[in-house]
Amino acid sequence: MKTIYLASGNVNKLRELQTALTNAGLPIRVSNPDEIGGMPNVEETGSTFQANALLKAEGLRRMGPSEAWYLADDSGIEIDALGGRPGVISARYAGLECDDEANNDKVIKEMSEVPETKRTCRFQCVLALLAKEKEHFFSGTCEGRLLFEGRGKDGFGYDPLFLPIGSAGTFAEILPAEKANISHRARAMSKLINWLGSGKVL
Ligand code: IMP
Repeated sequence: MKTIYLASGNVNKLRELQTALTNAGLPIRVSNPDEIGGMPNVEETGSTFQANALLKAEGLRRMGPSEAWYLADDSGIEIDALGGRPGVISARYAGLECDDEANNDKVIKEMSEVPETKRTCRFQCVLALLAKEKEHFFSGTCEGRLLFEGRGKDGFGYDPLFLPIGSAGTFAEILPAEKANISHRARAMSKLINWLGSGKVL
């Protein structure tokens, strides 16, 4: 049984990954960073999702055994009319101490004059896996449109403002299972699992 330490304290992310690995029949146990002293404070100074995911995975690797594997993700929303912002600073777009509501308000304001046809955007996710002294990256994208006002109560982050292409509801309106089918994170995860299942590394 191989151990992957996940560079996140989010139990939902951990559970989701463990379930996907188990369903794929892969002998991998996903472990919480708390087992090796907790997730260290990593400054996300990279200018790409890939660079920041790698920084987080490397930060955690310094805490644990060298033979283990380490996985981290970085994600965010890119809005074309804002030149790709907020991008890598999605979590702190309205300032270091901000919350989801402040971030959403800032985006709504900046996008208030942008017409329907120019409101394209996408969620991006990159996973960085450190295994056997090597770096491996898996990315996922979900294209959509940014609404003028939020819709829906579920989800987190920019979910209420994001209407995925081909969907009648925003990420905050559709069921978690529907989001899990089409989300940027699910798509990146599915690439990771296919790769692990291909037997190239296990
Ligand atoms: P990270 O934890 O550094 O990857 O930051 C991700 C940030 O991007 C979050 O705090 C959200 O603001 C935004 N984000 C990423 N994925 C999603 C999503 O699925 N829904 C809504 N917001 C998201």
